[in-house]
Order: sequence, then C-alpha cells, then structure tokens
Amino acid sequence: MIGVVGGGVAGLAAAYRLQQRGREVQVFEASDDVGGLAAVYETAGDPIEKFYHHLSASEGTIVELIDDLGLGEDLEWRYKTDSYYVDGVVHPMEKAWEILAYPHLSIYDKFRLAMLVKEIDVRGGVPKFDTYDDITDFEDVPIKEFLLDHTTRHVYESFWEPLLDAKFGSRKEDVSAAWLLGRVKFRGERDVIRGEQLGYLEGGFGVLLDELYAAVGTENVTTGARVTEIGTGVGAAADGGAAVAGATSTTGSSTVESITVERDGETETHDVDAVVVAAMPNVLEDLTGYPCEIDFQGTVCSVWSMEQSLSDTYWLNIKDEAPFGVFIEHTNFVPPERYGGEHLYYTASYIQSPEEELWGMSDSEVEDYWAEGVGDMFPAFDREGVNWVQTARNPRTAPIYERGYLDMVVPYDLGGEVAEGVYYAGMASRAQYPERSLDGGIEAGYACADLITGDR
Ligand SMILES: Cc1cc2nc3c(=O)[nH]c(=O)nc-3n(C[C@H](O)[C@H](O)[C@H](O)COP(=O)(O)OP(=O)(O)OC[C@H]3O[C@@H](n4cnc5c(N)ncnc54)[C@H](O)[C@@H]3O)c2cc1C
Repeated sequence: MIGVVGGGVAGLAAAYRLQQRGREVQVFEASDDVGGLAAVYETAGDPIEKFYHHLSASEGTIVELIDDLGLGEDLEWRYKTDSYYVDGVVHPMEKAWEILAYPHLSIYDKFRLAMLVKEIDVRGGVPKFDTYDDITDFEDVPIKEFLLDHTTRHVYESFWEPLLDAKFGSRKEDVSAAWLLGRVKFRGERDVIRGEQLGYLEGGFGVLLDELYAAVGTENVTTGARVTEIGTGVGAAADGGAAVAGATSTTGSSTVESITVERDGETETHDVDAVVVAAMPNVLEDLTGYPCEIDFQGTVCSVWSMEQSLSDTYWLNIKDEAPFGVFIEHTNFVPPERYGGEHLYYTASYIQSPEEELWGMSDSEVEDYWAEGVGDMFPAFDREGVNWVQTARNPRTAPIYERGYLDMVVPYDLGGEVAEGVYYAGMASRAQYPERSLDGGIEAGYACADLITGDR
C-alpha cells in the first residue's frame, strides 16, 4: 500500500494517478474534510472557496483532470475585470483602452510597462524578443533592481511597488525577478478589446475536490487522521526494527516501511511500500527531518455575503493605505444568481510574521477592522446589509519566491535524502513555481505517482 499524507488537491491527485496505475493507496488527512487550501463555505447557492480561486489559461493539467472526471462542460472561461484603487478612485485597468486612460502613468511609462508584460526588452532602443525566455537567468536578480532597469522608476513606484507590498509586505525586496517574469508567462493571452479570461468551475472548485475524492474512493481516504511518524528500516543488514526517517537519513540506505497515524485519540501504524508527503514542508520536516529553507507567508481572508454590489470590478488592487491588501468582488466574475442572489466579496491580507497585529486579532476583530476599511473605500457599504461573514486563516499559504528559490525547492523523490520510497508533492515542490496553484498541486501529485510507478 502507498500512504499519502494530506488530502488537499496534491494528495488526492497523487492517489488518483496511483490507482489508475493499479496501486493500492490510502490517503490520511488530518482535518475532518479533504480539500486543504481549496476548502469551501456553503452559501444560499453554490459553495464558495474560503480563499479566492480561479484558473489561468496557461494551466493545462487541471483542465485535463477536469475533463477526465467528466466535469469538462462545467469549466467556464470568463472575462475578468481588474481595477486599481488610487486616491479614492477605482480605475479600471483590464482592457487596452482602460489602461491608456489611466491617469497615474505617462504614455512612456505605459509603453515600458506594456513591453515588459509582452516580454519585449526595449532597453537600449532596439527591441529584443528572447531576453526573458529563460526565467532562471533572473533567479538571483532582485525584483526592484530589475523593474527599475526594465521599466521606469515611476512604473515601479506607482504601479509595481503597491502590488508587491500587498503580495509580499516586508519581504517584497527579497523576491526575485524570475518570480515576476514567471507570473507574466503564467497569465493567459489578453484580448486587446476584452482583456483576459480566467477559468472557474460551475459550482466552485469544491466540485473538483469532491469528484476527485469520489474517484479515489471514500474507503481509500481517512479523514481526522494525522500522520505523526514515517518509519524506515535500514536495509537487509538492519535488525528489522523501524526507525524515524529523520534519524536514519544520513545512512542514505534506509527504506520506508510504515506510517503512524493519530486518529480519534488512538495511534495506528500501517505498513507501506512508499509514502507521498503532500503537505507543507514543515510537515515533511517533522516527519522525516528533511529541512526546507523556503519561507512561507500566511493569509487572513474573509468572505462577505451582502445584499448589494459595491463595484463593477472583480479584482481590485489598492494603492492607497487600506487595512487589507486586496478586495475581490467574486460576484462580478461569477454571477450572484449562482449564490442564491448573494453578492460575495473577499477581503484578504498576506501575513509575513505571526507578530503582525492582524494575525493576533480574533475573527470578529478582523471583520470589524475590515468592515471599517470597506466603508471608507465604498461609502455605499452598509454593515446592516451583511448576510454573513466568515474568516479563514492559515499560517502557510504561499512561498516567498525569494532569490535563489529554485535551489531550495524540495525534490519529488527523497530517496537519496531521507529514505527509499519517500516522495514529496507539497507546496515547496517544483510544480508550484513560479506561482502556487491547484494545477501545480496536481502536477506535483502526478509527478510523485509517476516516479513510484516508474512512468517518469
Ligand atoms: C489566498 C489563496 C489564494 C489562492 N488562489 C489560487 C487561485 O486563484 N488558483 C489556484 O489554482 N490556486 C490558488 N491557490 C493555491 C491553491 O489553493 C493551492 O496551491 C493548493 O490548494 C495546494 O494544495 P496542496 O494539496 O498542495 O496543499 P494543501 O491544500 O495545504 O493540503 C495539504 C493537506 O495536508 C493536510 N495535512 C497537513 N499535515 C498533515 C499530517 N501530518 N497528516 C495528515 N494530513 C496532514 C492538511 O490538513 C491539508 O488538508 C490559492 C491559495 C490561497 C491560500
């Protein structure tokens, strides 16, 4: 049997592929539900993700999985609307003419910004089309230095810097230019007239998780089961006793033998032929001793159900001081009719350290603080019109894509580093670069499965 640690999309994808290749699997999920970071809330209609989710047109593996699971017809590609909130005004920034009309950048600034987004290097006056082909060339280049060189100071200060503040806060200057270029490539083609399309699954991504769970088989997934130990044997010469993987990792010759799970206050041990750890790297370290140097940021995110719409925008970036980093009116992307007429917004902030004040606030304190901020931005906001609000938080939701990141990525096959038969599909894996995503989780799960079955 192959044990999978974690019932998020990566763990379920690994289990699904292993089963397709005829392997027996058991997924152990610590919480009471599968889904991990893609878990959902109920609404008056379709469920909604606790943390905002959509797909980019460049993501193919998830689209194939959606088709495989018979959900292809439910995948919708919708034009999004992006805006920038500056000096109390919402400026649409999605379509070419909206960007041209944006008053806070000069024509020259817009030209330099557009060229970078189109991946054309116009430094020195002669356009070059291959400068950005290999993003690894930019792994060690600080993002600020890169943007000052490849666009203009004004583009950096009035366009990129507020976005980097919202995304990486105090860590913004640690991020590499490769991350930015990766993000540019990650986005889909943009229609000059209508802007960019994003993907969403009718019924929400919870439907994908549910179908994947059903395909793996509920009998092959144990929820409320926290893996606490991975046991290894040290090969034929050993006395046969299992050891904790981290304790034997220096020999390089041990093999995984068992995993120990805590469930309903009881401890149980299962024999395994291989283990896929599909959880954050701190879980991997606790279980195996394998250290990962990647720093992670957390997220606090509220979903508001309201009687009224506050804007015409799906994704609102904010240049002004605001108590949250982003304001997303989900029902300007997916219509409110899907949610029984509820208008759904997200307010969210990334957290770089548990010392940050927001992290220390209770959910109701966060909601009060943010309600005031929403009211400041949108005078039409009326707290009486809030049907419900729910707040989710998680201390590890995205890596800091700092310089030298690729050297810190955790390999899929940890046979050499930990023990034969130990694999890693969590967020610190290569497929989750340059941006963590459901697609990346599925790819990482598949990669581990393919290595186990010898198909990679
Ligand atoms: C704010 C935010 C916005 C996002 N936006 C998008 C988006 O627009 N598009 C997109 O595609 N993706 C988006 N993502 C990313 C996407 O949600 C993740 O990449 C994906 O869900 C990660 O899946 P995973 O299985 O690797 O990890 P997780 O979802 O973290 O799953 C890991 C699971 O392991 C379990 N676990 C941990 N320790 C143990 C243990 N010891 N034993 C057993 N189980 C354990 C956890 O409970 C968890 O369920 C977003 C994420 C966030 C937070």
